[in-house]
Amino acid sequence: MSRTSAGNRPTALPGLLYMLCITPLLRRLITVHTVPPGRPHRSRCHRCATPVWPAACRPSARCRGCGRPVGPPRYTVEIAAAASVALLVWSGARGWELAGYTTWAMAMIVLGFVDAAAYRLPHQLTTAATLALVAFLALAGGTVAAWLVAAAAATGLAGFHVVLHAAAPSGLGLGDVTMSIPVGFALGWLDWRYVVAAVFLAYAATLLGFTALRMTGRRGSHQPFGAYLAAASVTIVIAAQVSAR
Ligand SMILES: [Zn+2]
Repeated sequence: MSRTSAGNRPTALPGLLYMLCITPLLRRLITVHTVPPGRPHRSRCHRCATPVWPAACRPSARCRGCGRPVGPPRYTVEIAAAASVALLVWSGARGWELAGYTTWAMAMIVLGFVDAAAYRLPHQLTTAATLALVAFLALAGGTVAAWLVAAAAATGLAGFHVVLHAAAPSGLGLGDVTMSIPVGFALGWLDWRYVVAAVFLAYAATLLGFTALRMTGRRGSHQPFGAYLAAASVTIVIAAQVSAR
């Protein structure tokens, strides 16, 4: 991992500018992909047919055409993105590795919001997240061991979830399997033990969510595991970067 001296730390300005530019795009991706499986992407407001981009990609989450809410709740995407970018910059990651993990974290936010709202994890998003992370890490360099462990972690986690999917297709979808690849790669690049920690945290959160649903007497038992996995893996990546300082 590349680290710089305290005197060469970047200011918060690049991170702030990045966040201001990226959050409308994140809102667009989330809104477009938050549709039931098999349905076409949502390109327009479902009430007034105003195009989602750019009319419904503001932090207020309200359509400029009809003023009604569209997409994720207001400020949630912005808070998640700002917290992730700020913590990654603060964590000590630098250079291409910081660019790679920031891009990956933004993809995890999109996947998490889409899964929480529509119980789906589009393959094109997980593929883009994987390719972007691998490209940035290739620019960062890294040891042969890091590449091998990352590839093994991605393969192992995806394989583990393939088995669970085969055993219970209704419990764990194919989207969870494909999402395991960028998650396993990102965490495995840092240390294979972080993969175990993130998966454990994600399953614990899923269990808590399931328990809370039952205790409050709500119907249904399905939990958005992808959303929990996204939150857990971003948390563990930040913790791993901090521990490596
Ligand atoms: Zn509208």
